[in-house]
Amino acid sequence: MSSNQQQQTVTVYTVIKCVNGDYETERPFQDGDFVLKIVGTCPKDGGNLYISGIYAVVPGEKESS
Ligand SMILES: [Zn+2]
Repeated sequence: MSSNQQQQTVTVYTVIKCVNGDYETERPFQDGDFVLKIVGTCPKDGGNLYISGIYAVVPGEKESS
């Protein structure tokens, strides 16, 4: 008898913000991402975009509020 281990696929997202607080976006986590890393420039004011957070989404555990 073999036991099947179900692997949950966790999707990780990276939250990116402008240092001036006027822009925020998200994208799938990329290798090398870490909090406070500078990842580009703001399309609105040209300020630095930095990673403000990284979070994981587990399928089937949707929060409804
Ligand atoms: Zn900005």
